[in-house]
Amino acid sequence: MKTYILDPISNEALAYAKVHLDVVCWDNPQINDYAEVEAVIVRTFKMTPVIINQMPKLKMIAKHGVGVDNIDISYAKSKGIRVTNTPDANMNSVAELIIGFAFNCVRRMTQSQFAVLQGLEANSPLNLSGYELSGKTLGLIGLGKIGMSAGKKLRDAFAMNVIVYDPFAMAEQCNSLGFTKIRSLDELCSKGDIISISVPLTKETKNMIARHEISLMKETAVLINTSRGGIVNEDDLYEALKNQKLFGAAFDVFVQEPISKNHPLLTCDNFIGTPHNGANTADALIRMGVGAVDEIIRLKNGEEPLAKL
Ligand code: NAD
Repeated sequence: MKTYILDPISNEALAYAKVHLDVVCWDNPQINDYAEVEAVIVRTFKMTPVIINQMPKLKMIAKHGVGVDNIDISYAKSKGIRVTNTPDANMNSVAELIIGFAFNCVRRMTQSQFAVLQGLEANSPLNLSGYELSGKTLGLIGLGKIGMSAGKKLRDAFAMNVIVYDPFAMAEQCNSLGFTKIRSLDELCSKGDIISISVPLTKETKNMIARHEISLMKETAVLINTSRGGIVNEDDLYEALKNQKLFGAAFDVFVQEPISKNHPLLTCDNFIGTPHNGANTADALIRMGVGAVDEIIRLKNGEEPLAKL
């Protein structure tokens, strides 16, 4: 099956693809000739109607990852093209990044290193004092795979009290996890010590955290976004961090990516920014790449995809 891999994938996944599929790689000059392509693997490559129309034989778009906002799914489906993703492949890596962000913010790790580099006269300066996660309240916005994984780890490791805002999550499911379902986003914002966002970017979630929601958060709260840029209003967050209305924030995702070194948020010493690194671990890259290849192999064998969108 003629398969174009439009973004770089791990060496392990590429080797696996080459055994089973007729592969054209991202760095091959032939990659711009779409006439014969039957399946594509994409990470951030935008599958717009214009691109899809240039691929008359396309049968499958296999997303290497979870978020599919770079794929016009309804247009692809209208053309009979299957769209798949690798829903479980990166949740652990992103959940671990959430935990790293939480620790980094509450213990002011990045700020401490900057202070050391600038030169300190004494140990343990009070302005670098942090707080413990143990026993605090974790507010999860979105209880999908990533939110749930982060919640379970922080519940088990630090006895964090976990509250959830997710209109689609069942209260029974939350109860069985020892989590508490909260009916309103406002209430979650006012109660969380660590507030972590794990929802897709949709019309409903765009700007769902803005001036009003931030104003409800505790001044000791930490806001974490590893889901998508645009879910939090960056201007409103900047105002809050600059005026010390939040303890800190850590984001892996931004409205414009990669994040510019001149982004105003990076001028706030209580902000940590990483370049969409959530799934950027050797472990997740192999799982995502092999998972995407497997979906195309299933198509080749006349089988149903595992993750049909
Ligand atoms: P998921 O589909 O398993 O879970 C998403 C959850 O969001 C669901 O439980 C859903 O009910 C909930 N939700 C939807 N709309 C909501 C709303 N308006 N309010 C509250 N909750 C809402 O997805 P996941 O695997 O947990 O991933 C979450 C997001 O993380 C993805 O959509 C993707 O954008 C992002 N992501 C980022 C990285 C990264 O590298 N930083 C990697 C993987 C995924």
